Amino acid sequence: MAGEPQDDCLFCKIVGGRVPATVVRETETTVAFRDINPQAPTHVLVIPKAHHRDVATLAAADPAALADVVREAGEVAADEKLESYRIVFNTGSGAGQTVWHVHAHVLGGRGMQWPPG
Ligand code: IMP
Repeated sequence: MAGEPQDDCLFCKIVGGRVPATVVRETETTVAFRDINPQAPTHVLVIPKAHHRDVATLAAADPAALADVVREAGEVAADEKLESYRIVFNTGSGAGQTVWHVHAHVLGGRGMQWPPG
């Protein structure tokens, strides 16, 4: 069922405390933790606690939860004192999504190019 924890989902395991993570922020509906393979000096993932496979699915099922994720991404950037940063939702394997529990990448602390690779 949409939003229910999935036994085989890494990020559901992080939400449940069954996989360790370096948590930097937590709310009733979200968790933010440092990426295990950082691509910038700040690289934090913000996830909804509920399981949804990607950002579009989350937007359709629970727009308030998506707003919570984006607001928390901004709070992470403020905590990290980032003037400029990128919020990225890789969506689909061709775009680089490897974990099928929606997550916002918050990346900052270095210069960035456009378009991304
Ligand atoms: P995606 O490629 O957009 O799906 O992003 C998945 C991200 O999860 C990658 O940046 C990985 O480095 C990160 N990741 C995978 N496993 C873990 C973990 O156990 N803790 C924190 N980050 C992880």
